[in-house]
Amino acid sequence: MAGNRENHRQQTPYRAWFRCGEGCDVRLDLTEIVYHCPKCGGLLEVEHDIERLKQQSPNYWRRLFDERYMRTNWPYGSGVWGKKEWVCPEVSNENVISMYEGGTNLFWAERFGAEIGVEDLWIKQCGNSHTGSFKDLGMTVLVSMVNEMIAQGIAIDAVACASTGDTSAALAAYCAAAGIPAVVLLPRAKISPAQLIQPIANGALVLSLDTDFDGCMAIVKEITKDKSIYLANSMNSLRIEGQKTVAFEIVQQCDWEVPDWVVIPGGNLGNVSALGSGFWMMKELGVINRLPRIVCAQAARANPLYESFLTGFAEFRPKKAEKTLASAIQIGNPVSIRRAIRTLKRFNGIVEQATEQELSDAVARADRTGLFNCPHTGVALASLIKCLEKGIIRKDEKVVVISTANGLKFPEFKIRYHTDALEGVVGHYVNKPVELPARAEAVLEAIRMHRDRMAS
Ligand SMILES: *Cc1c(COP(=O)(O)O)cnc(C)c1O
Ligand SMILES: [Zn+2]
Repeated sequence: MAGNRENHRQQTPYRAWFRCGEGCDVRLDLTEIVYHCPKCGGLLEVEHDIERLKQQSPNYWRRLFDERYMRTNWPYGSGVWGKKEWVCPEVSNENVISMYEGGTNLFWAERFGAEIGVEDLWIKQCGNSHTGSFKDLGMTVLVSMVNEMIAQGIAIDAVACASTGDTSAALAAYCAAAGIPAVVLLPRAKISPAQLIQPIANGALVLSLDTDFDGCMAIVKEITKDKSIYLANSMNSLRIEGQKTVAFEIVQQCDWEVPDWVVIPGGNLGNVSALGSGFWMMKELGVINRLPRIVCAQAARANPLYESFLTGFAEFRPKKAEKTLASAIQIGNPVSIRRAIRTLKRFNGIVEQATEQELSDAVARADRTGLFNCPHTGVALASLIKCLEKGIIRKDEKVVVISTANGLKFPEFKIRYHTDALEGVVGHYVNKPVELPARAEAVLEAIRMHRDRMAS
């Protein structure tokens, strides 16, 4: 077992380890089962041997990553593992659990941009991934690391998470591919049926609890004090390492140029921290020479970060999240609050919020230009519209919106919108199906009426 580790250490000269995100002098191996700094209790971060990475030129890295991008050479064709040296060099290739996640399309939202008044609008379609959300990016790293640890003889019986739906889907799929038991804690009746069936289909132990996400989170923290159950929530910073590749990919897909703004929906606030960490790393390594500004977009019904932003981040108060259509970000006590605030300060960032009405209309409006958005992406799009209206984002700036999940996971939301059945929401872009007898004249008449309506 130890031999395996030694072989691997010879495979790569790059190293990474845990350090304290609050700055204590702490350094722990990535195979340690630990989520908090032993000195101050703050969250850990993965730190890379930047000096060693800097021994290669920015051009070396750009070329290497371009050569690997979306090819078959295991495991480098994965959008995450194609940047292995910058993500998690501590896993040997034979222990990687990957489904070739990442490499998602960057959609030029030309028509939608023109409608809302921004010329250069792009949408990073992170939901076009194995389980339909960006959570795959972090989970491939976490589950691979667990697989590596098990191969080294470390006793782990199962991996567990609390989830608003997408984390559990990703955990269940990657654990199933690895043959490692998965345990998921879900708030009863607060996730979509598609999200519920994903971990069921993948054979996870699915526990539906009579509480909300924050309640599930408290319990999963409790049960993972037992080190044989490994914690897969984003307070485990291995997840952040995989998710930061979204920043790498955006820059790579823009021919290694940096956009002016990145808009990210935020709940537990791991992802906003992850993207910040990715951009920061590229700047440290000289691959980019400036940083984008960041907008974190929250649902108005679950907006503790927005409220903190209004105080200039001087204060932060966790709150009880109210029910929102953007169920994956219905979180009142975000685990990554401190790192998110650090990120926003570093990126001259802002926080905007969207109401149920605003997020629903933004989804429908953008869908009419060829997209198929989830409600969380709707929060980001609605926040972008508000930033444009306020003049915070200018029409000639390049904007990338992070679409976090695939709209196909949320058909009930879309059906209810288009049948005007969403409580408290007036559908301004409703498109109802027309029911007709099976006769050609009736169909022709419907087409004529539709054309007249479009023309008027
Ligand atoms: C997890 C998730 C988010 C929020 O990400 P955080 O890291 O919790 O802020 C947003 N949208 C979707 C679809 C998600 O699954
Ligand atoms: Zn510390």
